[in-house]
Amino acid sequence: MNLANCARCGKVFMKVRSPICPDCQREEEELAQKVIEYIKENPEASVAEVATKLEVDVEFIQELIREGRLIKVKPAWKAHCRQCGAPISSGDLCSECRSKLAAELSKAKSPKTQEKSENDSGKTSMKIYLYDRVKRND
Ligand SMILES: [Zn+2]
Ligand SMILES: [Zn+2]
Repeated sequence: MNLANCARCGKVFMKVRSPICPDCQREEEELAQKVIEYIKENPEASVAEVATKLEVDVEFIQELIREGRLIKVKPAWKAHCRQCGAPISSGDLCSECRSKLAAELSKAKSPKTQEKSENDSGKTSMKIYLYDRVKRND
């Protein structure tokens, strides 16, 4: 048993994965469909306009964008990278920040010992042979 308060309506429910109760999940699903339908009918509408017309939070629409659910109806709408704010098609992070994060994580796991390889190959030891002039004693 894992009881939790719904993040949306506050009702106590059996939490499985979603932070919101099944009623709210159904409602949000209906809202998502409404948003998709509205965009299909009004392809020029802005995020703010859709939010106002349908009385939903802008954040809700942003969430749909992040989940990649509006890509088909509105590919121009981009989610924004949590880290740097760059426009992305879906998810939380842009590919750059994702790879940076992955690199940091792997670094944290196995700290690389940076071995300074001394580069000797560049050094060309010039040997200058000095020939002593042999003074010829004539
Ligand atoms: Zn709820
Ligand atoms: Zn980024």
